[in-house]
Amino acid sequence: MRDTFLDYNRPDVTDREVEAVVEAVRSYWITRGPRVGRFEEALRAYMGQPNLVVVNSCTAALHLALVAAGIGPGDEVITTPLTFAASVNVILHVGATPVLADVHPDTGLIDVEAVRAAITSRTRAVIPVDYAGFAVDLDALTALCREHDLTLIEDAAHAIATRYKGRLIGSDPHFAAFSFYATKNLATGEGGALSCPTPALAEKVRLLSSHGMSKNAWNRYTEAGSWYYEIKEPGYKYNMTDLQAALGLVQLERLEKLQGRRTAIAEAFNQAFGPDPALTPPVTPPHVDPAWHIYPLRIRSEALTIDRNQFFEELKTRKIGCSVHFIPIHFHPYYHDRFGWPKGAFPHAEAYFREEISLPLYPGMSDADVADVIEAVRAVADAHRR
Ligand SMILES: *Cc1c(COP(=O)(O)O)cnc(C)c1O
Repeated sequence: MRDTFLDYNRPDVTDREVEAVVEAVRSYWITRGPRVGRFEEALRAYMGQPNLVVVNSCTAALHLALVAAGIGPGDEVITTPLTFAASVNVILHVGATPVLADVHPDTGLIDVEAVRAAITSRTRAVIPVDYAGFAVDLDALTALCREHDLTLIEDAAHAIATRYKGRLIGSDPHFAAFSFYATKNLATGEGGALSCPTPALAEKVRLLSSHGMSKNAWNRYTEAGSWYYEIKEPGYKYNMTDLQAALGLVQLERLEKLQGRRTAIAEAFNQAFGPDPALTPPVTPPHVDPAWHIYPLRIRSEALTIDRNQFFEELKTRKIGCSVHFIPIHFHPYYHDRFGWPKGAFPHAEAYFREEISLPLYPGMSDADVADVIEAVRAVADAHRR
């Protein structure tokens, strides 16, 4: 057994990121300045998506997509129960009503047929989640949304660098919201981006992200700037800062290498756990090259004498930090009480949650760390087989 605790997650920050942030601080551009624009350009080039706007979180990006699409009171928005609260909170922030559609039992991704069944005359948008970095079935969802005139807003918080049928997530002409939160594959501390379907929507999102002002500080306070600006509509304070963009620029340059390491670790886990009848490695859907944001291992309770919670605790005793993704939305008291979703309403999401443990998976893990995780998982399974 290892003698130091292996953290569940750690951002991969090198001296290059540190130096870039120090340089930003020294430049006096400590809020939105030239680096935010450069980061935005770099992300556009990376995704082949000119209609992309950088903001201060994925939550802000999702919120702005709903506002820009004109969704509000009386409207219904379909999302998945297997997600983080942000995907649902933003629906409430615009005064719309969240409707949940269950996931596919194998992948944990929203089930397109369940989405179809949840559509009513009030449905205006769908927010699918690229859970763990596996892409949802975008072609099927795009066709369904087109058929019913719905706005597709992909929660791609886990999916920078994911490919669907060879296309990078974010390159398609629908809304896709990315997170650069500390734990995500590209980390700026707090941060996000929204790719938009059209230049006009991207422009609207840009305005809304900065109070609805016609100009930001960068084009007001420089020598070439002018003091005059106009408020076009009441927007939000959702801008990124140059400190975050400085981090992001270096992280984006390193992304491919970081992703290579994530994939190698995930493949080592898949090989180790695949043959074990008590364990189910994550299922990669066809046509998807996943970003491996999370490694969601599922334990088969019927093959073991312990449940997921005990398995989790035993891994902790063996100094392996883990997590769980996600507590189903309708298990949280607020949503449960407000929308009256009973337990059992979304059985596939509930079953997935009951069995899931997210193992440590980040580029900074050494080969010895990876071997320690494999050894610990096997030891816990072996000690509790039926
Ligand atoms: C992290 C996360 C978010 C929120 O991202 P922030 O950048 O922290 O706002 C939204 N959806 C999912 C699925 C997430 O995991």
